[in-house]
Amino acid sequence: MAESDRHEARDVVMALPVNGAPASATPTSTNGPTSNAANANANASSNNKRRKNRAASRRSAKRRHSMSKAARDPRDEPESKATSPVRDAAGKETTSSAVATRSPSPCIDFDGLSRPSTGTRARLEENDEERQVRLEKMRGAVRTILECVGEDPDRAGLLGTPDRYAKALLDFTQGYQQNVRNVVNEAIFHEGHNEMVIVKDIEVFSLCEHHMVPFTGKMHIGYIPFHSVIGISKLPRIAEMFSRRLQIQERLTKDVANAIMEILQPQGVAVVMESSHLCMVMRGVQKTSATTITSCVLGCFESKEKTRNEFLSLVGVNRH
Ligand SMILES: [Zn+2]
Repeated sequence: MAESDRHEARDVVMALPVNGAPASATPTSTNGPTSNAANANANASSNNKRRKNRAASRRSAKRRHSMSKAARDPRDEPESKATSPVRDAAGKETTSSAVATRSPSPCIDFDGLSRPSTGTRARLEENDEERQVRLEKMRGAVRTILECVGEDPDRAGLLGTPDRYAKALLDFTQGYQQNVRNVVNEAIFHEGHNEMVIVKDIEVFSLCEHHMVPFTGKMHIGYIPFHSVIGISKLPRIAEMFSRRLQIQERLTKDVANAIMEILQPQGVAVVMESSHLCMVMRGVQKTSATTITSCVLGCFESKEKTRNEFLSLVGVNRH
């Protein structure tokens, strides 16, 4: 918990059409500076008020994270209030058991259970026989889905589909069986290098946890070492590990930033992700050109505007 407080993040989420004009700017974090125009009013409010707010958020031990909110698509808004700000900091005000599994802490651990999902360990440690049982259960479920969409699961073209889809889905969620420590595999080197390191345009494929359909895009990762550097290929590997789980883009961005902060202990980490969500693009009003941008900046990227701007202009998402 102390770790998550130290790595307090600044998050900005906005949905942009391709022409660049913010269609519906929706900052999902109220604490932390944002350069968003939609926040102009908030910024104009008195410093006193801000100080009060900050003090108030300190008092509640856990601050509100964007990961506790739904994705940008208004149709994704939950019907219930189950994902409203978590208030179980002291363990006293928890009224819903659903809230307990959505800890606002970054949940970085090293045993492959970085998401608080009950079946993760079982999947990690299962033997061949248990794996067969899991596959059979999944095949049955896919067959049911085929029937429900009005198909004939016994026609030639679909005979192997339940098996293929089950295996594909296990592959898409392979990240549940990986952990940060193994991915990094001690590729941390004491180089005395203290300048910004950036890996940009990392291709990311993930599954939206609200619809289980893909969202894909590019992630840019930057950090400023504190003497130690990480093997450069490990940054895309960390991004892949977290993207191969059921995700929302906000949390994926934050997971990657926090994991790097945790394992490397640099001066700061910045992660920006731009992606297109099929659940938004394919359904209803088909906003095929919409791009969702999320960012998470920690350490010196959060505290120093100049550093943050340097990163943003180097990765090409700074429009100034
Ligand atoms: Zn979705």
